[in-house]
Amino acid sequence: MVAELISGLEYSKKVLTDVGIHIAETRKSHPNFNSVLAIVQVGNRSDSNVYVGAKIKKAKEIGAEGRLIKLPSSITQGDLEREIKALNLDNEIDGIIIQLPLDCNNNIDADHVIDMIDPLKDVDGLTRMNAGRLMRGELQRTIFPCTPFGCLYLVQQATGDKNYVAGKEVVVLGRSKIVGAPAAQLFLWHHATVTICHSKTKNIKEKCLQADILIVAIGKKHFVKGDWIKPGAVVIDCGINVDEPTEEGKKSKLHGDVDFEAAKEVAGFITPVPGGVGPMTVAMLIRNTFEQAKRRRLHHEFDE
Ligand code: NAP
Repeated sequence: MVAELISGLEYSKKVLTDVGIHIAETRKSHPNFNSVLAIVQVGNRSDSNVYVGAKIKKAKEIGAEGRLIKLPSSITQGDLEREIKALNLDNEIDGIIIQLPLDCNNNIDADHVIDMIDPLKDVDGLTRMNAGRLMRGELQRTIFPCTPFGCLYLVQQATGDKNYVAGKEVVVLGRSKIVGAPAAQLFLWHHATVTICHSKTKNIKEKCLQADILIVAIGKKHFVKGDWIKPGAVVIDCGINVDEPTEEGKKSKLHGDVDFEAAKEVAGFITPVPGGVGPMTVAMLIRNTFEQAKRRRLHHEFDE
């Protein structure tokens, strides 16, 4: 058996095109409607510059807007908090994200800064308010963290069934605030039975073998082997592991957390790296900004 490839590149284009169409439609009845994402970047990390540039470009392509608020590495916690407060009050801004990791010379409590974002402008779903609502299953009142949302969307689209997750055994490797933990909650509240594994979990291979849907987000190249996969399972690989080039002039290579070549022989569906979950994260960020813009500007309910 060779798994069906789930192209995040293709599905992300579909999400972005749909958001663009919805923005254009909304403007027919609300000509001043906009969907503006503010990206707060501290310092000048080259990888962050690439990610920020991609987000702004994708937003622009579909008629939305991304604004970069680039702050110096010398910024203090107090000044960063003041920037967030100003964005919360700025009526033109619909979504706020803080580009992580921060490139700062001072000690900054990033969790505290993130938590200062107005929950109605939180488009990563990382504020305690929105994370708590997700944990309680209040799906209409929260916003789904972008990477887990991308994972869920890929499963639903690839299988052609919005309810595919219900009743399935889902195993999530990783429990970070940004991927593993919210992915587990998102799948739980879409009625899966969820097992979460982390660095202290025993017998991970046996647990993975139970998974109808396996979500992997641990940051370890090719950690999941082909013989850890249940035949026919849906395998979603969030991992981004960079192999720096050994020769000058060569490009760095990206690898997932799953041994793709071996896993594709067993799985039913599988995401590649690159071109899987990565592009979905950006698409869901722009989608979430539009959802928050509708809620705040038009008092609309969240469309899942
Ligand atoms: P993270 O904060 O470092 O968390 C890693 C998680 O993996 C932790 O919960 C850790 O367990 C667990 N873990 C580490 N080693 C393990 C092992 N040997 N066995 C089982 N579990 C283990 O990472 P993250 O931010 O969640 O990111 C995970 C990966 O996804 C990274 O490669 C990252 O680059 C990628 N990522 C991709 C996107 C995207 O858009 N595609 C977005 C975000 C992240 P403990 O909790 O016990 O330490």
